[in-house]
Amino acid sequence: MRRPLVMGNWKMHGSRASVRQLLTEIVRGVGASPAEVVVCPAYVHLQQAFALCADSAVGVGAQDCSHMAAGAFTGEISAEMLQDIGCRWVILGHSERRQYHGESDDLVAAKLAAALQAGLLPVVCVGETQEEREAGEAEYVVTRQLRGALAGQAALKQVVIAYEPVWAIGTGLTATPGEAQGMHVFIREQLAEIAGADPAAMRVLYGGSVRAANAAELFGQPDIDGGLVGGASLDADEFRNIVAAAGARQ
Ligand code: PEP
Repeated sequence: MRRPLVMGNWKMHGSRASVRQLLTEIVRGVGASPAEVVVCPAYVHLQQAFALCADSAVGVGAQDCSHMAAGAFTGEISAEMLQDIGCRWVILGHSERRQYHGESDDLVAAKLAAALQAGLLPVVCVGETQEEREAGEAEYVVTRQLRGALAGQAALKQVVIAYEPVWAIGTGLTATPGEAQGMHVFIREQLAEIAGADPAAMRVLYGGSVRAANAAELFGQPDIDGGLVGGASLDADEFRNIVAAAGARQ
């Protein structure tokens, strides 16, 4: 049985004061959920988040890492640095990194290799844009992204995949539970084909305007193992209810 996972991606939000308040409420609110819970604040708030989550079941992750181990790469943060300060998780290939920072499938693959090498638990994001969806290319794009990131990688059991249709991120639009379930089944088939992974052992999350109001229906689908949550993870009550929906998954 795959343990449900809910990750909050806080993106470039927060101050020391708001991180303290939000995380204090989240730690209190989610308690000992059957679902695994991880929050991903900005790099500069990671140390504060570790301290606030220290005696709780809430894990902490980063939103990205460099593909390089060390060196003259101004502004970059390596996977080893994250591991060294106690970070366990890292989000890779988020559509905002692909869109605004030109991250290619090859770069995501190199970041994945660096993260695995450092012993981090990576969450690799894939998903099609609105134009690609309208052109009937959603499965093609997701396959290309999975193949680009995962081909040749061993140790895939530790890797989590997040299916995040770009048109659903931050828009209030969501894939219907049936659409999301269909893509998750397709992703599991690809995981077996591309990487020889045991698809039943890997967790595949859904992301894209997940809210308390739609979480139960999405997470009720047999192949959706939880969510990567952006906007709603900045609201402690919403996030707690999303975690509760994931925890109730059978
Ligand atoms: C995300 O950024 O990964 C995301 C899913 O955002 P939102 O939940 O706001 O759509």
